[in-house]
Amino acid sequence: MLNNIIVLIKYITRGMVGKCPNCSRKKLFLSYFKMKKSCDNCGINFIENNGDNWFFLLIIDRTLFIFPIVVAFYFEIHPKMIISLSLFLLILFIIITPFRLGICLGFDYYFRSKIIKK
Ligand SMILES: [Zn+2]
Repeated sequence: MLNNIIVLIKYITRGMVGKCPNCSRKKLFLSYFKMKKSCDNCGINFIENNGDNWFFLLIIDRTLFIFPIVVAFYFEIHPKMIISLSLFLLILFIIITPFRLGICLGFDYYFRSKIIKK
C-alpha cells in the first residue's frame, strides 16, 4: 500500500516537472500545450486512449477551480471579488496547463500500470 503511494507520488512529480512518468528522461511536451504521443526514450504511450486523461483533469479542475469560488460564495464575499477571483483562476489555469496535464498523466499512468500488471 505504502509502496503504491510512493510510486504514485513519483509518477505525479515526474509529470509535474514535465518528464516521462516511467523513465523521467524525456520531456512530455512538444510545445506549451501540446503533449507528445509517446516517450522518445522508453516508448510508453502518454495518451493511451484519447480522452482518458479527461477524468483526472476534470477532478483536478473541479477541485482547484470550482472549490475556491464555492468557498467565496459561502463566506458571502462581494460579487466583484468573486468575479475577480474567477478571472484570476482562469488565467492561472491557462498558465499552469502543462503542470495540470503532467499531474493527470501521472495519475493516468499509475492506474494504467496497475491494470496491466493484474
Ligand atoms: Zn520514458
